[in-house]
Amino acid sequence: MSGVSEESVWSALKTVQDPDRGQDIVALGMVSGLVVKQGNVGFAIEVDPDRGEKLEPVRKQAEQAVLALKGVSSVTAVLTAHSAEPGDGQAARAPHRGARPGQGAQPQAKPRQPQHGQQSGQAREMAPHVKHIIAVASGKGGVGKSTTATNIALALHVNGHSVGLLDADIYGPSQPRMMGITGKPNSPDGKRLEPMANYGVKVMSMGFLVDEATPMVWRGPMVQSAIQQMLRDVEWGELDVLVVDMPPGTGDAQLTLAQQVPLSGAVIVTTPQDLALLDATKGLNMFRKVDVPTIGLVENMSYFLCPHCGERSDIFAAGGGQREADKLGVELLGEIPLDMAIRETADGGHPIVVAQPESAHAKAYLRIAERIWRTLAGAGTGARSAPNIEMK
Ligand code: ADP
Repeated sequence: MSGVSEESVWSALKTVQDPDRGQDIVALGMVSGLVVKQGNVGFAIEVDPDRGEKLEPVRKQAEQAVLALKGVSSVTAVLTAHSAEPGDGQAARAPHRGARPGQGAQPQAKPRQPQHGQQSGQAREMAPHVKHIIAVASGKGGVGKSTTATNIALALHVNGHSVGLLDADIYGPSQPRMMGITGKPNSPDGKRLEPMANYGVKVMSMGFLVDEATPMVWRGPMVQSAIQQMLRDVEWGELDVLVVDMPPGTGDAQLTLAQQVPLSGAVIVTTPQDLALLDATKGLNMFRKVDVPTIGLVENMSYFLCPHCGERSDIFAAGGGQREADKLGVELLGEIPLDMAIRETADGGHPIVVAQPESAHAKAYLRIAERIWRTLAGAGTGARSAPNIEMK
């Protein structure tokens, strides 16, 4: 059990002043993403990027103030860049994604609500030259979401689209490994980052920025602001599709993400067990709640193809994916078998779509990518506004 309450952390933070603005950091709305878990506390302090380094003492002071509380065993405060001074009256506008002639009436972009403890002064649009941002999500971890996101991104590229891959799974970033990328991204002007790239796909991941040993509690508060930053402060350039590999699950962090990122649609990755246990439904419901259309389901580890005789064994009842998709009223984009080659290529940094482009598996991903693009290019999910919901 936690030995310290959120209230006492907020009170401690109220004792920390922003020296330039003469008010405390809570009153100024600079603190966000507070997490208190068993005496471990994490939060982000949002600052204008130009003041970043100058505010390091404030960050330290905030850590010290919280660490002094009884029952606190560790504190991690991070400074996150905020592109404009709060209170400049410029509410963040949801970007207008991929509007095409003849698409019919789409929801109008709305000013987005500031989140708890945040200000709404984001002058810079999130990835303004990206036509479609899609989420690849799952009801729980370990179903092959990242493997699927990677292969879908590569397949979209092979199909002739310009593609980026944003690894939002900051608890377990796997894109550096799966995309075979090491090193750190460049920042020519010290403010904006250039994405890394491999196999023709641009990639950004917390894995490039944060040490793998960084404790979880440190990452918790970073989820919301980190993803926004990876959209806003990374030079994605012109892209047809940006594939977001979401953190697994359907908790608050995921919901907030789905709400804050202007998504054209979501692809839900499931396994047959997952479908049976209705975990996939949680994923669907999460996106419905925030008014993001579901592009479809990918059933992963759907069947087993014997590497010796090539015989297909349906581990679970055949056709279950299609039946469940029909029941849920969503498209089954494809079924991917459980196959060593998929695991070995993904885990080896050379995913199957590029490693074995002629294989049946690569072709299955290409078909999924085609279906996704068809939905994006068609009516209904083109221009999205970030939905405007209240978080409890
Ligand atoms: P998640 O993102 O849902 O946690 P990952 O994509 O990291 O899952 O996959 C978990 C493990 O399962 C990885 O080792 C991956 O290579 C493997 N895997 C994913 N899909 C398949 C598949 N269709 N066949 C075999 N192994 C797979």
